[in-house]
Amino acid sequence: MRVLITGGAGFLGSHLCDRFLAEGHTVIAMDNLITGNTRNIAHLAGNQNFSFIHHDITNYIYINGSIDAVLNFASPASPIDYLKLPIQTLKVGALGTHNALGLALAKNARFLIASTSEIYGDPLEHPQKESYVGNVDPIGPRGVYDEAKRYAEAITMAYHTFHKVDTRIVRIFNTYGPRMRLADGRVVPNFIAQALRGEALTVYGDGAQTRSFQYVSDLIEGLYRLLMSDYTQPVNIGNPTEMTILQFAEAVNEITGNKAGITYKDERIKGDPQTRQPDITRAKAVLGWEPKINLHEGLQKTVEYFREVV
Ligand code: UDP
Repeated sequence: MRVLITGGAGFLGSHLCDRFLAEGHTVIAMDNLITGNTRNIAHLAGNQNFSFIHHDITNYIYINGSIDAVLNFASPASPIDYLKLPIQTLKVGALGTHNALGLALAKNARFLIASTSEIYGDPLEHPQKESYVGNVDPIGPRGVYDEAKRYAEAITMAYHTFHKVDTRIVRIFNTYGPRMRLADGRVVPNFIAQALRGEALTVYGDGAQTRSFQYVSDLIEGLYRLLMSDYTQPVNIGNPTEMTILQFAEAVNEITGNKAGITYKDERIKGDPQTRQPDITRAKAVLGWEPKINLHEGLQKTVEYFREVV
């Protein structure tokens, strides 16, 4: 296959490039580099099956030749980033997804949209099944991301039903691993960077809010299986092992041997979900997929990466 990966220089996009190349496909990565970085794909320079196009997909996308699949991963994804880039976040989810779908339609390509657990907002159902429609404040600070991704799902379904584009929707839950940006503000790089510097970890609020962290290789496996399946309804891909942010901080301190402990900060963004845990019954049934890497193993690999960049 010849695949276009938008957001291809980002954390997830770059791992997708690696996976598709390893499977023998040809990959075109596209990125405007506002949160992505060519460092993430530097190792692919010189690979004749790989090319990079510096482009913002909120503008018309032109690709010469055939395309078999479009994987739409372009978007700021960290709460801090989308607070700084609210208009770009809305535009890439809406206009960018529209352009990427238009390209898929024109090329008769399969299309996969990277959606998110954020479409469930601060959920009133726990764990979250794909049938749950969510609890999102459209004008809250996180609304720019949540509503852009909800719109992206809506337009993807519309292209599927109206234009018969062969689409996939993945709802990605918190994912971590090498190539996360050190300063992206999310809890994993924040805690690991603080631990490696011997500083106290900044737990926001009382730390009782929960998340369920999945290692990046598990996600990539799920994405690959979903694209290769014929399933067009949304699928959660995440690790159901849920923990409080306080427990997560303790795990990071233990793995890194950090003795500086924890400090509490009043920095929770309005609408910060109190709980988040994927129900992965559908992914298991449809894709035969479940996560393989536990937190200890995943964190060790991630800490190794951050040791090089801190
Ligand atoms: N968080 C924290 N300390 C930090 C960064 C984040 O306690 O230094 C908390 C944040 O308030 C949220 C959780 O960790 O409850 C996960 O935040 P993140 O920004 O990683 O992503 P989210 O899952 O909210 O999209």
